[in-house]
Amino acid sequence: MIEDKNPQRTSISELGEFGLINHLTNIFEIKHQSTVKAIGDDAAVLDFKSKQAVVTTDLLVEGVHFDLGYMPLKHLGYKSIIVNLSDVYAMNAKATQVTVSIALSNRFPLEAVEELYEGIKFACDLYKVDLIGGDTTSSNKGLLISVTAIGEINPEDVVYRSGAQPNDLLVVTGDVGGAYLGLQVLEREKQVFQVNPQNQPDLDQYSYIIERQLKPEARKDIPKLLKELGVKPTAMIDVSDGLSSEIIHICKQSKVGCNLYEDKIPLDPQTISTCEEFNISSTTVALSGGEDYELLFTISQEDYPKIKANPSLTIIGHMTQESEGMHLITRANTKIPLQARGWNSFDKA
Ligand code: ADP
Ligand code: MG
Repeated sequence: MIEDKNPQRTSISELGEFGLINHLTNIFEIKHQSTVKAIGDDAAVLDFKSKQAVVTTDLLVEGVHFDLGYMPLKHLGYKSIIVNLSDVYAMNAKATQVTVSIALSNRFPLEAVEELYEGIKFACDLYKVDLIGGDTTSSNKGLLISVTAIGEINPEDVVYRSGAQPNDLLVVTGDVGGAYLGLQVLEREKQVFQVNPQNQPDLDQYSYIIERQLKPEARKDIPKLLKELGVKPTAMIDVSDGLSSEIIHICKQSKVGCNLYEDKIPLDPQTISTCEEFNISSTTVALSGGEDYELLFTISQEDYPKIKANPSLTIIGHMTQESEGMHLITRANTKIPLQARGWNSFDKA
């Protein structure tokens, strides 16, 4: 479906491992004082002075987490950075460094890896993080990418999943469900394309949800915004597996219950219209879809006036006593238990 715009194929073996690493990484510039030594020694050296460091890793496997049939390598590089930065922001921290490790099968020419690194570079520049190292190896089958993201934070600003209190408000940024639907559209078009390769799909009406899937953004702006508003969330998590699974994580770790209001869940108009077309419930998509990379957090009721007018923030519910359980209050005003049907990489086997 994605055309090969770059038919040139240079074998990686021509460069050798060190030649490849150097070729891929010499265009990256260092942006942070905390990066004392980046690529080129046995290990990177970082100095956060009086701040604390947060560290998070994700591993992405071809055929499990991404499909190169519709995911251009540049987007994959970009997204592999974004999904990790999202975890850093979910701690209320500032992302500062990343490492990138790749395992390549011999079907990838140099040009393909260059494309991947173009996306990585684009994300590093936009989100202002330093590439400080990684590892490069071969794989028998498929592509693997592992990214580690590092961030810094004042110790008093760290937000865990475990701090929510009964009566706290539950808040989500942006809108949810779009990325999952974007994937459904891409999967459908891939099948159409396999039957008839001449068919050039017209995806204009799905541009927003496809972008949510192929080129997601992490909420770098939110820790900064919350600081400006003078709000410290009591608990926070990023929405990678679907709203309901993330709410359940906060509830379980904070030992509280929750009422989530169906009519408050923020949805983009394209998400709503595409749900109608696919004949699926937009609430199910929002609750179970995943990969939105929005932030979900709880705040004390006292902070309500500080956030209420903000267009990026939607109050979708409130926390309760643990004994009251975790519920969705539907538009028809019925109360149904929240279930975690988030995306789980072990479900697909
Ligand atoms: P070592 O043999 O000690 O593991 P490598 O030869 O693998 O060292 O790496 C040399 C340097 O290049 C190190 O600084 C390492 O972090 C960096 N590096 C290796 N692979 C990558 C990659 N894919 N992206 C970014 N940096 C890399
Ligand atoms: Mg190595």
